[in-house]
Amino acid sequence: MNYREWHTRDTACLWHPYTEISSFEESRFPIVERADGCRLYTTDGHALLDGISSWWCVNLGHSHPRLVQAIRDQAGRLQHTLLGGMSHPPAIELAERLVQLAPDGLGHVMFASDGSCAVEAALKIALQYWHNLGETRRTRFISLTDGYHGDTLGAIGVGYVEAFHHPFRNVVNPALFADSPDCHRCSRRGPAKTCDVECFSSMRALVEEHHAECAAVIVEPLCQAAAGIRIYPAGYLQRLRALCNEYGLLLIADEVAVGFGRTGSLFACQQAGIVPDILALGKGLTGGMLPMSATLVSDAIYDSFRADGERRRTFFHGHTFCGNPIASAAALAALALYEEEMAGESFTQLMALLEQGMRQIAIRLGDFSPRTVGMIAAFEVAEEAGGAARAQRIAQHALTCGLYIRPLGSVIYLWPPLNTRSDDLLYMLAILDQAVTATV
Ligand code: PLP
Repeated sequence: MNYREWHTRDTACLWHPYTEISSFEESRFPIVERADGCRLYTTDGHALLDGISSWWCVNLGHSHPRLVQAIRDQAGRLQHTLLGGMSHPPAIELAERLVQLAPDGLGHVMFASDGSCAVEAALKIALQYWHNLGETRRTRFISLTDGYHGDTLGAIGVGYVEAFHHPFRNVVNPALFADSPDCHRCSRRGPAKTCDVECFSSMRALVEEHHAECAAVIVEPLCQAAAGIRIYPAGYLQRLRALCNEYGLLLIADEVAVGFGRTGSLFACQQAGIVPDILALGKGLTGGMLPMSATLVSDAIYDSFRADGERRRTFFHGHTFCGNPIASAAALAALALYEEEMAGESFTQLMALLEQGMRQIAIRLGDFSPRTVGMIAAFEVAEEAGGAARAQRIAQHALTCGLYIRPLGSVIYLWPPLNTRSDDLLYMLAILDQAVTATV
C-alpha cells in the first residue's frame, strides 16, 4: 500500500488527538510503519529521529529487545484478569518494585492505563481520604497556573488551559491557581541570580487563605512540561512540602511526564529530597510500550480506606485494564532497564551533550538562558526572532531533514529517549541547528 492510499484511508475515518482537522487532512503527515531505537520509519520510506520520545513516553527507545521479549513471554502465559478481588504475579511484583524505588513511605499502588487516569485517581483518593476522616468540607485543590495534568474532567479542573478547555469551563471544578514558577520570565533571572524562590509567595498566600476547604496541592515536580518546559528549582518543592505539612494538606506529585529518569534521577521529587503523599506515574512506566499508569499513596492514606466497624470506606474506583499482566511485565522489564541505563557514565555524558548543544543553538536565536534538566532541554524563539510562527517553520524544516519535534508555542525542545546514542543525539542537534539557520 503506498503513502497516498494510507493517507486517504486515514482521513476517511481516523480522528487524531490535539490536531486541527482541516489543515491536517490537507497536510502530508508522517505515517509510521515501524520504529527502532530513536528512529521512526514511515510508509513512504523516510527515517525520522524521534526528538520527543513519541509524546514523552518511549524513554528506552523503540522496539527494545528486552521489552519486546518480556511482552512476548507474558502474552503466552496470562493476558488479562481483573484486579478487583483477585490478583496475579506480574502486578504483585510490579507494585513491590515501585514501592521499593519510589520515595520512602509510598507503600501502596493502584494501577490504571493512562496518565490522566492516574491523576484522576489521585484527586479522588485525596477527596475520599478527607471524607474518611470526616472532613467533608475539603473539596478543592490548589495547583499551578498553566500546569497540565491530563484531559479527563477532574484533571482539567486542576490543569485548566483556556485555549484547550474553554468548552468545558462550566462543568469542571476549577482549582485555585498559584503563580507558575516561570523562571524564564522571572525579573530576577540572570547569570548572577540568587534565587530565593520569591514566586512561592503566591502559593503560600493561597494555602494560608484556603487550606480548610482544600484536599491537596498538585504540581508537576521540577518541570511544568506542557506549559512550555518551565523548569523550576527544587527549592520550590521543598517549600511546598513544608507548607503542606504546616497546614495539613496532601501533596500530589504528578510525575506522569517527568518520572522514570527524565530529569536525571528516577523520580523528580528525589532531587528535592521530598516525599509526596500521592505520586502519579504513567508514560515511561512501560518504556512507552503499552498503556499503563500508577498512583502510589502513603500508608496513612491507604489505611484510612480500611473499614471502621460497620462503616465501609471502600474506594469504588477502577478501570477494566488496570494492572494488565502484559503491561505489568513490560513495566518490570523497563524498571530493570532504567536502573542499568541511568547507572552508566554515558547517561551523564548524554545529558551534558544535550545541554551544551541546545545552549549553542539557543544563543544564536537570542535566548541566553535556555532551560534544561536531565534529558529535557528547551529554548524560546523570542517574538523578535519570529516567535511561535518561526518555531513551527523550524519544526517543518527539521521534519524534511529527518527530525521529528513538536514545539509548544514558541518553545522548541528536545526530549529524546534516555538511551539515545551520542552520535544520534548529535545528529538531532545538527538538524535543529540547520533548521534554525534555514528559517528566518
Ligand atoms: N500529567 C502530566 C504532567 C502530563 O504531561 C500528561 C500528559 O502529557 C498527563 C498527566 C496525562 O497523561 P495521558 O496523556 O497519558 O493521559
